[in-house]
Amino acid sequence: MSLLIVGSLAFDDIETPFGRSDNTLGGSSTYIALSASYFTDPIRMVGVVGSDFGDEHFALLHSKEIDTTGIQKVETGKTFRWAGRYHYDMNTRDTLDTQLNVFADFDPHVPHAYHNSKFVCLGNIDPELQLKVLDQINKPELVICDTMNFWIEGKPEALKKVLERVDVFIVNDSEARLLSGDPNLVRSARMIRNMGPKTLIIKKGEHGALLFTDNGIFAAPAFPLESIFDPTGAGDTFAGGFIGHLSRCAEINDTEMRKAVLYGSAMASFCVEKFGTERYSNLELLEIEDRYQSFLDLSHVEK
Ligand code: AMP
Repeated sequence: MSLLIVGSLAFDDIETPFGRSDNTLGGSSTYIALSASYFTDPIRMVGVVGSDFGDEHFALLHSKEIDTTGIQKVETGKTFRWAGRYHYDMNTRDTLDTQLNVFADFDPHVPHAYHNSKFVCLGNIDPELQLKVLDQINKPELVICDTMNFWIEGKPEALKKVLERVDVFIVNDSEARLLSGDPNLVRSARMIRNMGPKTLIIKKGEHGALLFTDNGIFAAPAFPLESIFDPTGAGDTFAGGFIGHLSRCAEINDTEMRKAVLYGSAMASFCVEKFGTERYSNLELLEIEDRYQSFLDLSHVEK
């Protein structure tokens, strides 16, 4: 079913203890769209890039059948840039630089053909822009939303308005603590769900993810990998796999939500195997199903 994705398209400079990669294609919506493209169509993107965003980057998105007519290209500006450095454990990172560039004046315009999108994924961008997108679409079946500490600290009021209109909210553990002001994740989850989203996912990096719904808590492991190259985009590809799976379901219930968390975890585990979006250039559907099965096996016990 139709999925509309809004978020950043970016060039990233990434440094890990084991290597670095500069000018790498990234951005929240790029990762979400590439990941979700394995599950559903049509996928529609709304975003903005600068004159430095070359045809080869559009070609990658088109090769996955992603509709990019909602991406504005500003010939007088530069694409959003982000630089980050990962610590030795690869679980924590420092943002070294954020250059909004064309995002500073971005006024999202959702093309008319996208207004009826059934699923909406608000990737990590300024919550005021997330609100502008929500204002332009007809009533979607499910809205999911991601954010980061940059916006929790910088635009808390706008973020709260977004949360009132969101069905599923995805954050990592430190962001959940920051937003709730409580160090305990179970209490944080209760407080955040009271802000609007009925369903909350708290990602815990290499320690997996927790899903909170009215039916209780579901815990998914992370895939135990021997080598992690670059965790950038893990959260976004998780969101892409999660909403991708839900948007191909005839009915969304607790079981499908749990499966969606495992598909999201599987997609994140592929992302970290290579720098940037590289792993998605040759990822096969069969590999995704194999890894999903491995996730089921990871915590399966005979009765
Ligand atoms: P993740 O590792 O899943 O948190 O996503 C990393 C991606 O988020 C990178 O490709 C960055 O370009 C993008 N990003 C980082 N900071 C921001 C921000 N403040 N707003 C929008 N996108 C961002």
